[in-house]
Amino acid sequence: MSVKLEDVTYIYSPGTVYEMHALEHVNLEIPDGQFVGVIGHTGSGKSTLVQHLNGLIRPTSGHVYYRNEDIWQEGYQLRQLRSHVGLVFQYPEHQLFETDVLTDVCFGPKNQGLSPEECEKRAREALSSVGVEEELYDKSPFELSGGQKRRVAIAGVLAMNPDFLILDEPTAGLDPRGRDEILDQIERLHKERGISILLVSHSMEDIARYVERIIVMNKGHVAFDGAPKEVFSHYKELETMGLAAPQMTYIMHSLKEHGMDVDVTATTVEEAKASILKALKGKKGK
Ligand code: ADP
Ligand code: MG
Repeated sequence: MSVKLEDVTYIYSPGTVYEMHALEHVNLEIPDGQFVGVIGHTGSGKSTLVQHLNGLIRPTSGHVYYRNEDIWQEGYQLRQLRSHVGLVFQYPEHQLFETDVLTDVCFGPKNQGLSPEECEKRAREALSSVGVEEELYDKSPFELSGGQKRRVAIAGVLAMNPDFLILDEPTAGLDPRGRDEILDQIERLHKERGISILLVSHSMEDIARYVERIIVMNKGHVAFDGAPKEVFSHYKELETMGLAAPQMTYIMHSLKEHGMDVDVTATTVEEAKASILKALKGKKGK
């Protein structure tokens, strides 16, 4: 078992008029190698949740464990934790600040105390794995397009060689093509390097295509936690939380209601097609 939250509650500005209960009694365990999606309406606590996983914020009550060790126990090396558990913030381009792309991505490994040669090697590997071309390495991060900036920021975290990568809405504000490219690259990282991925999103469609488990946050609570098909079966409750199941879920339920014997758990176009064809054939046979 890799990361675990035990009864975590987090309150912003406790005891003031701004007091905000962002997380309440959250229990979660994420084993090594999983590709997990965290979804929820704006303000549901997603960003607060993920900042607990690498020790950026400390629970008001409850415990956070990494590989069975309480990360807030005395003497625990939080700095080391942060190189194992990499967090790419929401709008990470706001954290780009070095004069050129390569130097920016070297920042993390440099802080880990690696030699300049090793830093550069790590940075080049990381940049290439997220599809940033070499001719951009000496450009200022600020000259890049939105999608490229996002990739550079992801590379900056990857260069620290995390075994757990958290991405907080990595595709927010990107066009559909930029979004798909980044998500495909993240999936490749997961498959090729076996990195555990926690992908925060507010788009069910995005998440449905990639993850093996979905955690639904609602008002600081974990509302659902399970395999995508299981979570989508609650599509009516998801709507009350300002979320929607993938469009295919609605189509399949509607076909079923109209008397067609289809699999309502189909979420992708391919699955739906197969199920509809099968139902049509079955009808003909009768
Ligand atoms: P999400 O990422 O799902 O949009 P957040 O974790 O950012 O949700 O926020 C959860 C709740 O905590 C929201 O009501 C938000 O307004 C509040 N919140 C977030 N960050 C802060 C902060 N720094 N100070 C006070 N309240 C905050
Ligand atoms: Mg957020």
